Amino acid sequence: MADQDTSGTGNALPLNKSVVVIGAGTMGSGIAEVAAAAGHTVYLRDANDAAVERGLGMIRASLDKRVARGKLDGAKRDEVLTRIRSPLSDDAMAEVGLVIEVIYEDLEAKVSALSALESQLPPDAIVATNTSSLSVTALAGRLKRPERVVGMHFFNPATVLPLVEVVSGHVTAPEVAQTIFATALAWGKTPVHCRSTPGFIVNRVARPFYGEALRLLQEQVASPATLDAVMRESGGFRMGPCELMDLIGHDVNFAVTRSVYQAFFDDPRYKPSLMQKDLVDAGWLGCKSGRGFFDYREGASPVVVDELGTDMNPSVVRVEGDLGPAQALVDLLAKLDGVRLERTAGDGLIRVDGLALSLTDGRTATERAAVLGEAVVLFDLALDYTSCGRIAIAAAAQASADDVQKAAGLFGALGKRVSQLADVPGMLVMRTVAMLVNEGAEAVYQGIASADSVDAAMRKGVNYPAGPMAWGREIGLATVLRTVRNLGASYGEDRYRGSVWLQREVQAAS
Ligand code: NAD
Repeated sequence: MADQDTSGTGNALPLNKSVVVIGAGTMGSGIAEVAAAAGHTVYLRDANDAAVERGLGMIRASLDKRVARGKLDGAKRDEVLTRIRSPLSDDAMAEVGLVIEVIYEDLEAKVSALSALESQLPPDAIVATNTSSLSVTALAGRLKRPERVVGMHFFNPATVLPLVEVVSGHVTAPEVAQTIFATALAWGKTPVHCRSTPGFIVNRVARPFYGEALRLLQEQVASPATLDAVMRESGGFRMGPCELMDLIGHDVNFAVTRSVYQAFFDDPRYKPSLMQKDLVDAGWLGCKSGRGFFDYREGASPVVVDELGTDMNPSVVRVEGDLGPAQALVDLLAKLDGVRLERTAGDGLIRVDGLALSLTDGRTATERAAVLGEAVVLFDLALDYTSCGRIAIAAAAQASADDVQKAAGLFGALGKRVSQLADVPGMLVMRTVAMLVNEGAEAVYQGIASADSVDAAMRKGVNYPAGPMAWGREIGLATVLRTVRNLGASYGEDRYRGSVWLQREVQAAS
């Protein structure tokens, strides 16, 4: 493999170098707009003339919208538009510094579109691909100057989303990756370096966000609306996994999962879901087909989130030991009117009028109760216990209806809505976050990207409320590793194997 020291930022493509965008569809027109707005002359090409006209129309509409919102003046819009051209003369070819390939996701089509152009390009021109899932190494290997080929992966809409994954193939020259990094930065984007492996950073590290929710639905944990509400209002995610999959389209989301799974030679960590396949087979593709997890047709019944009543007020609350990631609850409990708060040493339990409550650690409540020798109700991880609006709980088989009411009453007194999940290992937020951290850790362990790049990619590419690596440190890497291992012990599946990176970090800190 070529030297992968892509840490430097290099120099951006000079503004007197022009950019050729091949493919004037959704992504190509957005990328052409970004490059032209940054000051480059852009040649927008497509196999189909009507597509170029449509692409130019999309760019015009997007710039007009910015003018209407006062974000761009009319003269600047006209200037940007005059920089976008279509026919590319031989003279103009000599000034091309960068080609960005943005045609449909098919290796042979991409190879053929780029082969037709590469012999006419100046030898120092960079060839970038916006592929989401194909190997940059495989594409480069079919072209004449593989060291000048790199991934420049924008997110949709390219004019709005800041992330650009700069993807180095096996022989991409480091200075090529650095130039693309610096160019993306100069274009107002947030670039991150990564190596070409299935899913790059975002489409790989995000798999558990969908995958764990799909498994939990299959295990009858709660309704899609309830899962989404917990992930938004407790986990702090902007959208729940079910509504997000409905928005992306189950056909697209299923295809990405399947392609990552196959590209990793059937690693169970990325195994697609039968439940999602069913939705695809039924044509319930989400928003675009009118039905998915939710019903988008006119007159559909409103979505209902399952919630428990919270009117059983606590009177004596005892915190036994350190609550770990849930320690912020102690300050909230101390402010409760009419409640006596006691503190003792112990194993991280909250006792509300005798009932044991504990943060999930990847085991079921029933298993915890068997170990403790008493009934227990578990609660889920929250991004921020102080400000979150909802808490999920799960009761052991040994717990009574009264115990559930006591737990719900406590969180209700703290101003939270409470949703009960079925008793499965790791609940929802903890399990998803632990698997996201574990996946990020694997990417770092395998040298795909740095921890900072993983965090930036997940925050800027898919709007996560925290980068998984920083979130893992916040929760405690030992807690993350314990959760993943407990999931592994419960399911007996290789899917839940703790990353060696996590093991080493935990061992080094002990
Ligand atoms: P699209 O279908 O909207 O546009 C593709 C365009 O390429 C079409 O206008 C088509 O006429 C043109 N084209 C096809 N073959 C061509 C050829 N040989 N030469 C020139 N033009 C040709 O597709 P899109 O959604 O813009 O996706 C394009 C690429 O970007 C794919 O590789 C996709 O994986 C990637 N991508 C898409 C998204 C997304 O959300 N849509 C996000 C990131 C990356």
